[in-house]
Amino acid sequence: MSADPAPSSGPGRTRGHEPARPQAKSAGSAVPGPGATPEDAQGLALAAAAGIHRLAIPTPFQVGRVNAYLIEDSPLTLVDSGPNSAKALDELEQALGALGHAIEDIELLIVTHQHIDHFGLASILARRSGAEVAALDRLAPYLARFGEQTELDDLFAERIMLRHGIPPDIVTALRAVSASFRAWGSAVEVTRPLADGTELRLRDRTLRVIHRPGHSPSDTVFLDESSSILLAADHLIKHISSNPLLARPLGADVDDADRSRSGERPQALVTYLASLRLTREMELSLVLPGHGQPISDHVSLIDERFRLHERRAAKIGRLIAAEPLTAHEIAQALWGNVAVTQAYLTLSEVLGHLDLLLNDGRAAELDTDGVSRFRAA
Ligand SMILES: [Zn+2]
Repeated sequence: MSADPAPSSGPGRTRGHEPARPQAKSAGSAVPGPGATPEDAQGLALAAAAGIHRLAIPTPFQVGRVNAYLIEDSPLTLVDSGPNSAKALDELEQALGALGHAIEDIELLIVTHQHIDHFGLASILARRSGAEVAALDRLAPYLARFGEQTELDDLFAERIMLRHGIPPDIVTALRAVSASFRAWGSAVEVTRPLADGTELRLRDRTLRVIHRPGHSPSDTVFLDESSSILLAADHLIKHISSNPLLARPLGADVDDADRSRSGERPQALVTYLASLRLTREMELSLVLPGHGQPISDHVSLIDERFRLHERRAAKIGRLIAAEPLTAHEIAQALWGNVAVTQAYLTLSEVLGHLDLLLNDGRAAELDTDGVSRFRAA
């Protein structure tokens, strides 16, 4: 068994989540929360000085709270909403109230990506406030037909899981779990589709819209150009490595997306690392993530992530040098029972690193009766 931590970022995925243990209460805008360092408090204060306030909203997922951000500007803007639950709505309302605002005051709601812990409440908030809803243009059809789209995601995941050695009974069980999580999401109509690279102008600032896929196909980060603060959602998280979940490409139908074999499979980790390299080059004063504390030194954190992924790829390379293995067998060797309870999550993690090895010619994929095994090349 490995000393590596299990892949744990788990933010907002619709599969593989376990209901969380009760979380310590830590909401509130300027409250750094338990375990926060003076540096964390300083980061939040810097953001607040730029009119950006963190609202830590509870989720039922293992990842814990999700960060929404209120931008006190005109229009009054909320970046992400939290999941679709009464508890999330209640705490959001309280956190807004502590800043002197009500849900009805929100004028613009920004959705950062397609995970339900981030956008589940958006439709309720939009209905109550009349706010415009802004998101990446390519994400809009997904959000509008959320139920149908997650069905397709599940079908895609099912095919991937069967091809990569997860037993059918586990696949069936995971589908049921995923269906039960769907209630924390909700379809929402995007009224302001945003093109990659464009500007979102507020009275006191300009937000640059930047597509940085990898953690999910729709990850969008927003650069406040006046303060050099990056609203990064799950693109970069301080306390956990953001997990590039293998996902159906936006807009792909299932047969299109049933590219479960190498060469055809979407390469989430490869995409993610390319996105991180672009973010690494940015001059930033602060990164505000979708979970946890602000990041003041994004370059060091990103370099740390590069090293983590290299180490993990090397380790997987050693495992398959001994004998050909399915991705699920590799996940079990690395994480034991977590590879069963979080089967899709761990499978995504392994496949991501196998992609790195395959692309470098360090691994080969063999097909036996529709199941892929990997060997060292
Ligand atoms: Zn996410």
